[in-house]
Amino acid sequence: MKKKILLIEDNEQNRYLATFLLEQRGYEVIPAVSGPLGIKLASQISPGLILLDIQLPGMDGYGVAAAVKSDPRSRDIPIVAVTSYAMVGDRENALAAGCIGYIEKPINPETFVTEIECFLLSSVKEVAP
Ligand code: MN
Repeated sequence: MKKKILLIEDNEQNRYLATFLLEQRGYEVIPAVSGPLGIKLASQISPGLILLDIQLPGMDGYGVAAAVKSDPRSRDIPIVAVTSYAMVGDRENALAAGCIGYIEKPINPETFVTEIECFLLSSVKEVAP
């Protein structure tokens, strides 16, 4: 995959940690602090992956995933949802919204990047770089 990852996350601490872990493994991280900004960047920069927080103010992650998947410029970009374990049904909803995987918060720094890479490897929707 492309080494560019779009990180849609409104929480600064979560953004910081995810960015740190991904950059450590050689990825380039482009942050988006809101759903609408993330949707715009997805079509503009065509990242190899979108990491999507589900609990976003205003437009939630499901709305963001639907918008990304309905735009021909961004619909082939794989999306991995990142959300709180407390939200029952999130995994099913994330997969139904077109995400290839789901990671629970708080994220585990030891396994976070590996989990993402496993989703990408097993994804049939992965596109060639
Ligand atoms: Mn959030």
